[in-house]
Amino acid sequence: MDIKHKRNFCIIAHIDHGKSTLADRFIEKARLVTSRGPMGTQLLDNMDIEKERGITIKSQAVTIPYTAADGQEYELNLVDTPGHVDFTYEVSRAISSCEGALLLIDASQGVEAQTLANLYLAMEHNLEVIPVINKIDLPSADIPACLHQIDHDLGLDPDMTCFVSAKTGEGVDSLYEAIVKNIPAPEGSDDNSLKALIFDSHYDPYRGVIVHCRLFSGTLKTGDEIKFMHSDAVYKVEDCGIFQLQLVTKGELKAGDVGYFIAGIKTISDIRVGDTVTGIKNPASEPLAGFKEVKPVVFSSIYPVDSNDYEELQEAIERLKLNDASLVYEKDNSAALGFGFRCGFLGMLHLEVIQERIEREFDLSIVFTSPSVRYIVHMKNGETLYIDNPLEYPEVMRIDYSEEPYIQANIITPTQYVGPIISLCLEKRGVQSAMNYLDEKRVELVYEMPLAEVLFDFYDRLKSISRGYASFDYEVIGYKKTDLVRLDILVNSEPVDALSQLVFKDNAQSRGRMVCERLKDEIPRQQFKIAIQGAIGGNIISRETISAYRKDVTAKCYGGDISRKRKLLEKQKEGKKRMKMVGNVEIPQQAFLAVLKTN
Ligand code: GDP
Ligand code: MG
Repeated sequence: MDIKHKRNFCIIAHIDHGKSTLADRFIEKARLVTSRGPMGTQLLDNMDIEKERGITIKSQAVTIPYTAADGQEYELNLVDTPGHVDFTYEVSRAISSCEGALLLIDASQGVEAQTLANLYLAMEHNLEVIPVINKIDLPSADIPACLHQIDHDLGLDPDMTCFVSAKTGEGVDSLYEAIVKNIPAPEGSDDNSLKALIFDSHYDPYRGVIVHCRLFSGTLKTGDEIKFMHSDAVYKVEDCGIFQLQLVTKGELKAGDVGYFIAGIKTISDIRVGDTVTGIKNPASEPLAGFKEVKPVVFSSIYPVDSNDYEELQEAIERLKLNDASLVYEKDNSAALGFGFRCGFLGMLHLEVIQERIEREFDLSIVFTSPSVRYIVHMKNGETLYIDNPLEYPEVMRIDYSEEPYIQANIITPTQYVGPIISLCLEKRGVQSAMNYLDEKRVELVYEMPLAEVLFDFYDRLKSISRGYASFDYEVIGYKKTDLVRLDILVNSEPVDALSQLVFKDNAQSRGRMVCERLKDEIPRQQFKIAIQGAIGGNIISRETISAYRKDVTAKCYGGDISRKRKLLEKQKEGKKRMKMVGNVEIPQQAFLAVLKTN
């Protein structure tokens, strides 16, 4: 097909505004699939957890043939983008594979933090942005308010707006026409050197790594020798083609195309999203701009509850890594928990997704240690250490000073919640850098805050004080000086190394108290007294005691109902499997998770 009749676009939106649902309608309308599937199950999101949580983690692409109203045939490439702040870099690569973007706005919610963040990304890449108001079928849809925001907050032309219901399919036909009319065709010549941008990849157990790419110039053919410009690795193309829910072999991709290739690449870690592919013959002199190495920002160790599961855990992590290059891990061990893995994640959501997948897909009971950011520690002897594991924190005497990562947080909220949100940000050591009234009803707050402070309960508290109306987006901006201490937790005088954490000095007292209280609630009484203590260096800063207990749980069944008694015992046994012995104390998995949430 002539490049003039190709259109590459993505859908960008705040989470839950209907991106995946709209993508489904597109595919359906293009008659690639029939509408037999139950409404609401999304075709582009293929992992269970994505469906359950309604988030898109891996981006996907699909080529849709389309005949316009005037009879002209087009090829539309839809690139689905991940919808969470943890995955911003993947969004930016997907966006730069396109010439246009549909900016989806939920008619009942209006513009939110990620709507703005995504719009800025699209503008940075010079995309043509079409505003689309979705969910017009909802009784609570407020179209005039959305149009006002499109004009006033986004600075887009409200007259260009399309109105759709991704749920019912209403308006999707006119949206197609708008795409063909308003999004420019790609530019680039088939004769120039090959330049293809890698925007994603996935692992297929039979075919190896499938690379998702967008060609900006040149052609890519089966049999070609190619080179990845940033990693310098050379491969031979075994197959290439386009995505139509499955892979459709074409043998050749041309400038402007979005598609895949397979080149005998063994593991996902061998390729980098954002890298440029070129030919060995007639190579490009410069890679495409914007390459960035994705770095994990949150670190935690994973241990099996039952040490016999160590090998299974290793296999699970290796398998997850095949499809997720951003997951990094290495072997780790703890005095309290035995052998495990130290892992790096892109954010807390990424961590939770991995946790759920290990438990659900591999049926393993695991314990996570308190997540930590990566600190920079400057030593008196001039050395610089990067510390993300509290156990590696050096002796205080030898430290000159430490630095911690900071983020810029963008919060959009209805005006009535501004007061409590400012208090929350202050409590989290935030420093305000801007406060913009978007209109009479909404304010944008910009704060610089330590990443460690927003990792855990910031988002939940923001949602609860704003009754769900405030939205939040962040980006890591750099390091600033800080004052750190290591808080250790002792259970019957035994330090539980897995519960140690690095905390801002002024927060240590209250954190220590909170951890002890949580543990007291989560650790069941045992046949002896249990002391739970928080300590900094040798100083105990908090203490709770769990008193001894000897009651037989089956006693309250009055000896009568045997089956009930058995059920109770079964349940206890089940619970035991999720207990970890630390010294002579059994600590349930739940206790580790509870501490993890106490920031
Ligand atoms: P995403 O996070 O942007 O991918 O959003 P989803 O496509 O997962 O949609 C979020 C929720 O909104 C789901 O429960 C959808 O069923 C619902 N939804 C999406 N589009 C519409 C629509 O046009 N009308 C209504 N009533 N609900 C919609
Ligand atoms: Mg989605």
